Amino acid sequence: MRIDLHTHSNASDGTQLPAEVVTSAVEANLQVVALTDHDTTAGWGEAAEAAAAQGIALVRGIEVSCNLAGISIHLLGYLQDPTAPGLLKELEHARESRETRAQTIVERLSKDFDLHWDDVLEQIEPGATVGRPHIADAMTKKRIVANRGEAFAKYLKEGSPYYVTHYAPEPVTAVRLVKEAGGVAVMAHPFAKIRGPVVDDSVIEEMAAAGLAGLEVHHRDHTARQVQHGLELAASLGLFVTGSSDYHGEGKPNELGENTTDLAVLQQIEALAMALPRGVEVLWP
Ligand code: AMP
Ligand code: FE
Ligand code: FE
Ligand code: ZN
Repeated sequence: MRIDLHTHSNASDGTQLPAEVVTSAVEANLQVVALTDHDTTAGWGEAAEAAAAQGIALVRGIEVSCNLAGISIHLLGYLQDPTAPGLLKELEHARESRETRAQTIVERLSKDFDLHWDDVLEQIEPGATVGRPHIADAMTKKRIVANRGEAFAKYLKEGSPYYVTHYAPEPVTAVRLVKEAGGVAVMAHPFAKIRGPVVDDSVIEEMAAAGLAGLEVHHRDHTARQVQHGLELAASLGLFVTGSSDYHGEGKPNELGENTTDLAVLQQIEALAMALPRGVEVLWP
């Protein structure tokens, strides 16, 4: 069984509708796909309908933005209750802050380029979580750059004078909130230095003590050494290991199913979620 537990739709910074992500997953020969948009579950309903219609299993998930002393961390949450107030409050705070932060980035860019907030708004699905990729798409449309990759490399990456950070909860808090919501927490691409600074293993240990269940080890942003280290760290902390694509439609080269997760691990995620009082189920066809 081919299982991909990390994808994005245009409910955040992917380029496809949630239903199109599901169609693409079927075409990529996956039997299980998780929708894990940044800081929102807005795509769940549409993805669930599409999955039922197309005979593929759907894991409803999220990728929670976290921040520890300026270091950005992504936490995947699976099968959590989307209405649990503790997590919801943090997500709303992060989404609001993402929007003001994006406006500030665009104000800075507008001093040097013909780029305005309206241009960025055009790139965002109403209600979607705003991210730098939407700014990159606006810059692409205005021919300031050729694509998202160039926009990040030249103007949007951390350390750029245009870069601004946004509010996000600390990772240990986010792990607790996902678990409180009946969900299963998995740290996304924990060693991906290619994206910016990463946390020490000691932080991952603290997250594990707070209820982190797994590490996303098999991910294209990890080197072979980082994968090896991840396997060892997961084993020593009693965490399971996942692999996924982090698909963003045309926004990134990542292909659905380029990394996959074992069925035994999915079954573990299901069992862990089932043992908690709240949360939702895997939608099997
Ligand atoms: P933000 O959520 O605003 O901090 O922006 C980070 C998001 O931008 C990540 O989730 C990726 O989806 C995307 N991203 C980061 N680097 C690149 C890149 N080089 N090309 C395309 N997308 C990128
Ligand atoms: Fe993204
Ligand atoms: Fe991520
Ligand atoms: Zn992601």
